[in-house]
Amino acid sequence: MKAILDHIGIAVEDIEKALAFYKDALGLEVEAPEEVLTERVRARMVPVGGPSLELLEATAPDSAIATYISKHGPGIHHVTLRVEDIRAVLVQLKNRGVRLVNAEPRPGAGGSLVAFVHPSAAHGVLIELKQRVEPDVALTVKRLAFGDLQLTALHDGPFRLDGGAMFGVVPRPLWEKLAPPDERNRIQLAMRPLLVEASWGRMIVDCGAGDKMAAKQADIYALDRSRALDHALSEAGLTSESIDFALATHLHFDHFGGATMVVDGVLRPRFTRARYLIREAEWEDATHPHERNRASYLQEDFVPLKAAGVVDFFSGDSVIKPGVRVERTGGHTGQHQIVYLESGGRTGVFVVDLIPTTAHLQDPWVMGYDLFPVETLAFKKRFIREAIEREYLIFFEHDPKVAAGYIREKNGRRFVEQVL
Ligand SMILES: [Zn+2]
Repeated sequence: MKAILDHIGIAVEDIEKALAFYKDALGLEVEAPEEVLTERVRARMVPVGGPSLELLEATAPDSAIATYISKHGPGIHHVTLRVEDIRAVLVQLKNRGVRLVNAEPRPGAGGSLVAFVHPSAAHGVLIELKQRVEPDVALTVKRLAFGDLQLTALHDGPFRLDGGAMFGVVPRPLWEKLAPPDERNRIQLAMRPLLVEASWGRMIVDCGAGDKMAAKQADIYALDRSRALDHALSEAGLTSESIDFALATHLHFDHFGGATMVVDGVLRPRFTRARYLIREAEWEDATHPHERNRASYLQEDFVPLKAAGVVDFFSGDSVIKPGVRVERTGGHTGQHQIVYLESGGRTGVFVVDLIPTTAHLQDPWVMGYDLFPVETLAFKKRFIREAIEREYLIFFEHDPKVAAGYIREKNGRRFVEQVL
């Protein structure tokens, strides 16, 4: 086991008085105050080279810091060691009969995982183990000039789906390293609509799940609406009114649920100025769902659009606008399509659910959700080969971290060189 000294926790009676010494007298830099409600403490981090000193003041009489001070007076409270894999370390300690305060890691400051070892085991010192956890989803708006097109990877926030369903017949030991599941077996995903701007206007390709979902479903899918499409649009300097065209790749809720919204109890088109471009045969399938796809086709996502007279149907593989072309892949749904962006001799492809994340680069890693998985496999095999050879820039709609990149292959191993 490798451990690094992260910080030393110091129990103080009054943080402001402590700062008179650490900050004013010693002249050290101090980080912004932090309040840890669950621990009932206020904390200030004082970086000293690599590790830090952490000044801790109790905010309630039942706080561990208050108990410590009443027993021992102020002073060094704990030493924190940073480890790579806190669960493995806890197992190792448990196997040796080491007395632990926390047998399981729990959430600590800054999204970290922490657990305490009992002072009796550590010769009178309370040891805190800490594992840094990278944020598991990256939601930033990224722009790219692409010939005559301006491409912007937007997002409609994070969500989670069942890991088993996301990888079909692939056993969990193989996929869990690439996409670690949570305690409900769900993996982290994102929804990333693509904005295409050109002389003909502004088009959004897919628009996420939107805000209509009931609390129970939102919980099942771990929808977090604190970072959603409206925020992404405003980050790009736009609003829903800025959109001229909304193109649907298919009508599943996580792709086109954001097309409608409730205004004064009535379902209305969300992009008030836009024409909605929908493949006619997909509309037929979506409005005639069966038991296997009913949970994905939510009628309130698209039926109100037709009622409002804002839909333009197209049929077959078509050039939607100069530089924007759709091709049917089938597989995921009967009419599932991907979108080619072609300008200035470059090709980008919004691959939708054909390759939902960068963990799906191997041909047979096909989603259990797909209605026709063998059709997905056939299209994907041909497509990925072509994408590698012709260096298509691939836009991953559901990847938690990578919005776009090139698929590369080296010694038979595929990986993505991230661009956005
Ligand atoms: Zn999807």
